[in-house]
Amino acid sequence: SSFGHFGFDEPLLKSVRKAEYTQPTPIQAQAVPAALSGRDIIGIAKTGSGKTAAFIWPLLTHLMDQRELRPGDGPIGLILAPTRELSLQIYNEAKKFGKVYNINVVCCYGGGSKWEQSKALEQGCEIVVATPGRMIDMVKLKATNLRRVTFLVLDEADRMFHMGFEPQVRSICNHVRPDRQTLLFSATFKKRIERLARDILTDPVRIVQ
Ligand code: AMP
Repeated sequence: SSFGHFGFDEPLLKSVRKAEYTQPTPIQAQAVPAALSGRDIIGIAKTGSGKTAAFIWPLLTHLMDQRELRPGDGPIGLILAPTRELSLQIYNEAKKFGKVYNINVVCCYGGGSKWEQSKALEQGCEIVVATPGRMIDMVKLKATNLRRVTFLVLDEADRMFHMGFEPQVRSICNHVRPDRQTLLFSATFKKRIERLARDILTDPVRIVQ
């Protein structure tokens, strides 16, 4: 299939086949090669475009190049999303494709049990999917830390801003090492998102769905 062009390793190709995806969506066809080459990305894309897999597959490939998991270590991949519902969708997609690699994914969202979420984080993990406010709570509780994050995704950034999460999103970005890879997805691209992109991305590839 045309997924062969991406150069995924065999385990990932296998799980893509298992999902019965026959060909990449347009956003995947553009974003995946750019992300695999290490570039920052601005993706203007809506739900239904296949944008989740467009960042999960490169993140999993990025993880495979890393050292082994140590107990208590914070995530290497951090994905911020506006709502509990979207966080859980991303979490399920990450679990689905990450299963072959035996990695740990933790999901943290406002309204869920802080105790359970911090216990899960303390086990150590490679990927965290979180809403911005709850992510900051977890760092303040010292349940995890952002020191290991080298792959940062902001999903539905415009919605996060509409919900008042701009300060939290910016604070998290400021606490992640600057040489990280950053992928920014948004359904719209207005002034505030443009400013954010200018502040947090380095020479991004711009992809319009
Ligand atoms: P998303 O836009 O990421 O929320 O994805 C929308 C839906 O499309 C999800 O149910 C995905 O599992 C599915 N999907 C993602 N990529 C593909 C693909 N290449 N072929 C078929 N379905 C896909």
